[in-house]
Amino acid sequence: MMKRASLTPDRIAIETDQEKLTFAQLNERSMELASKLSSQNIRKGDSVSVFMKNSLEMVLLLFSLKHLGAITVLHNLRLTPMELAFQTKNSMSKLLVTDIERVDSLMESEFAKESNIISMDELLQGEATPFPMVKEFQLDSVDTIMYTSGTTGNPKGVKQTYGNHFWSASGSALNLGLYEKDAWLAAVPLFHISGLSILMRSVIYGMRVILHEKFNAQKVNEDIKNKGVTIVSVVSTMLQQLLEDLGEGMYPATFRCMLAGGGPIPLPMLKECEKRGIPVFQTYGMTETCSQIVTLSPEAALLKIGSAGKALFSSQIKIVVDGDCKEAHAGEAGEILVKGPNVTPGYFHDEEATKRAFNDGWLHTGDIGYLDEDGFLYVLDRRSDLIISGGENVYPAEIEAVLMSHPSVKDAGVGAMEDDRWGQVPVAYVVLRGQDVSESEIIDFASQRLAKYKVPKKIVKVIELPRNASNKLVRRRLVEYLPKSDLARGHVH
Ligand code: ATP
Ligand code: MG
Repeated sequence: MMKRASLTPDRIAIETDQEKLTFAQLNERSMELASKLSSQNIRKGDSVSVFMKNSLEMVLLLFSLKHLGAITVLHNLRLTPMELAFQTKNSMSKLLVTDIERVDSLMESEFAKESNIISMDELLQGEATPFPMVKEFQLDSVDTIMYTSGTTGNPKGVKQTYGNHFWSASGSALNLGLYEKDAWLAAVPLFHISGLSILMRSVIYGMRVILHEKFNAQKVNEDIKNKGVTIVSVVSTMLQQLLEDLGEGMYPATFRCMLAGGGPIPLPMLKECEKRGIPVFQTYGMTETCSQIVTLSPEAALLKIGSAGKALFSSQIKIVVDGDCKEAHAGEAGEILVKGPNVTPGYFHDEEATKRAFNDGWLHTGDIGYLDEDGFLYVLDRRSDLIISGGENVYPAEIEAVLMSHPSVKDAGVGAMEDDRWGQVPVAYVVLRGQDVSESEIIDFASQRLAKYKVPKKIVKVIELPRNASNKLVRRRLVEYLPKSDLARGHVH
C-alpha cells in the first residue's frame, strides 16, 4: 500500500456512496488504524479476525493489518456463533473486529466467553501506539486466511500468501488487459475471494474500486451507467437480476465486462447477454486459487459458450481419470487438477487435508470437468456429488438445470439413493413456485430432456433446500429430506 501510495498518490483508490479516498489517503488512514491495533497488542505474525460487512472501514482494516504484518482471517457474515468459534480457534485469532451493530449479539453468545471481540468504532476511538511498519513482504508468507464454505465437509482455512494474491492479480490482467480508466465494481462480499481479489488488484494495478455494501441490481446498473465502471464481478443470480433491472436499457460502450464466477452461468442467460451486447467472461476458480484460474478470453467468448476457458498465463490445469494416475483425453471427464503460483500452499493447521489435496504440486479441486480438443475447460460438477448409476456417471448439476427449466420449479437439488439393480439412482428434491405439479409430470418433463439413467427415480417436494453460508447447495444434506419409508429401503448417500 505504501508503494502504491508513492507511485500514484492522487488516483482514486476507493469510492463508496459516502466517500472517495485516494491511494495516499488510504495509506495514511490505514497507517493510523494500524497504530490503534498496535495498542491492542497486535504484532507481526498474529492472526486477526475480520467479521464485517463491506465498508470503507473494512478496507482500512484490511490494509492496516498488512502494515503490521498480521495475518487477516476473513469470516462469512452468515456464520453462526458456533461456526465462528471453530474458525477463530482454528486460525488462532488474537482479536476479532466487527461492525458496531453486530457486537451486542456476539457478546451475548457463548462465543464471546473465549474470544477477544472489539467493534470498529471502539477500535477507532482507542489510543495510538507506534509500531514497526512492515515495508517488505515475503511472497511466501501468509497474508489472508479464508475458510471454504464446507459444502464437502468441515471448513478448511485456506492460506493465501502475498505471492498468491500477486500472481492472481497479474494473471487476471494478462488476460483481461489493464487500462488506466479501469474501475472495478465490488458488490460481492470482501470476505469472499471474489471480493477481496478486487481490492488486491486495486492496490497492485493502481485501479479505482467502487464498493457497495451489498448487491442491489438497480444500484449496480446506475453506477455502471454513471460512474465509469468498466468491470463488475458477478455470480449467475446477480447477472439475472441485472438483466431484469436493465430492461430495454443499454450499458455504455466503455463497459468492458461482467466477470462471472462461483458456478456455471446457464446457457440461456449467456445467449441473452450476447444478444444485448453485454460481454460476459466465464471463469472457474476457488478460494484455493485466490480467485480465477481459468477464464474464457474475449476472442473465444462466443465460440465456446458454456466453457470456463483456459488456464491463465502463469497457471496450469489437467484432467485425471482412473484413480488419478492417467491424464484424460479430449472430451473425457475426470477430476480437475490445478497448479500455479496463485494456488494456496495448503490449509492452515490441517496437515492431513493439505496432504490429501496435493500431489506433486498439483491441487485436487474435487471438481469434475473435461477439456475439449482445443483445450477449453468445461466444468461438470463436484466429484463428491457424482452419482454412479449402472456404471454411468450422473452429474447432479445437469439434472438440476433441466428441472429448473420447468416453469413450476423454483429450485432443485439432486442426490443419490441406493438401488438394488443400478447401485445408485438419482432422486430430485424440488421447491415449487406455488402451483402444484405432480411427481409424474416432473418425471415426464425430465424424461423428454435427459437420458433414461439420468431421470430422477423419485421427486421429493420440499419447502427449502439446504444451503450453506455462501448460499451454495449442500447436496450431502439432501438425504435428510427423504421420507423415512425410502430410507428404510436401503442405504442412502
Ligand atoms: P468447499 O470447498 O468447502 O466445499 P466451495 O468449494 O463451495 O467450498 P469456493 O472456493 O467458494 O468454496 O467455491 C469454489 C467452487 O465453486 C469450485 O471448486 C467449483 O465447485 C465451483 N465453481 C466455481 N466456478 C465454477 C464454474 N465456472 N462452473 C462450475 N462450478 C464452478
Ligand atoms: Mg472447494
